[in-house]
Amino acid sequence: MSGAIGVLYVVATPIGNLEDLSARAVRILSEVDLIAAEDTRHSAKLLHHYGIRTAVVSVHEHNEREQAPRLIERLCAGKSIALISDAGTPLLSDPGFNLVRAARAADVPVVPVPGPCAAIAALSVSGLPPDRFVFEGFPPPRSAARCAAFEAVREEERTIIYYESSHRIVDSLADMAKVFGPERPAVLARELTKKFETIVSGRLVELRARVLSEASEQQGEFVVLIHGAAKTTDHENLKTDHVLRVLLDAVPLKEAVTLAARLTGAQRNRLYDRALALKAEGR
Ligand code: SAM
Repeated sequence: MSGAIGVLYVVATPIGNLEDLSARAVRILSEVDLIAAEDTRHSAKLLHHYGIRTAVVSVHEHNEREQAPRLIERLCAGKSIALISDAGTPLLSDPGFNLVRAARAADVPVVPVPGPCAAIAALSVSGLPPDRFVFEGFPPPRSAARCAAFEAVREEERTIIYYESSHRIVDSLADMAKVFGPERPAVLARELTKKFETIVSGRLVELRARVLSEASEQQGEFVVLIHGAAKTTDHENLKTDHVLRVLLDAVPLKEAVTLAARLTGAQRNRLYDRALALKAEGR
């Protein structure tokens, strides 16, 4: 594939099941001049499986900035390149953003070759509202930062999607239950397209208990999908404000919030913020 200017193909690869590589992806990977892969040894298995002999260079998070200008030079010289990551769609919690941005800035055509993506595969089978969703990638590794990140989307009404690894899934689910509330409906999608594929729906507290119940439930790769926050209507807001006002006249703020949560079923955190606002307004 050589011409005036090359094409950068962004090619999705399987997230577990090798049969999920599209026929078009096989053709493009065989025809391009070069494959830019996140981990050349990892991708060698896939390429070998399909008998693809194209030359491969590595483009990962630590060398992408240096590699991008070199690859753009080759594209501008008429070579075509296919970007792949270890699994799924490149750029989605994977390297490639710098290269794609540089290619577009250099007017190099960037062509998607779509296919597997763990977030979308999980959403498609979750039974959670799929029409509007937010993809949050991996939560921060440390609990304080993680809780702060969850806090920022606690009231989000769209379905929220997270990636998580086996060594952090238990702690992440604990923090999710703490911030989103133990009763928030969610779905855990583990090892999609692989032998131990498991897709479980439940309250966050139930999902955590399940993952804790057996060491094998903590193994593999996870997508966690959280139901968006229930939409609060004006009527409900007026009702909770009324309940809070009455209680704030009678008991201290913390107790008012606890009682209001029991009476209305509204989220404690939201009631707490509202109680502070009502107090500041002089109710
Ligand atoms: N680019 C990939 C995609 O399109 O899905 C995601 C790459 S990211 C580095 C890897 C994370 O994706 C894993 O830690 C896990 O959260 C999720 N993931 C990848 N494959 C998965 C699978 N087969 N089942 C469940 N989650 C998976």
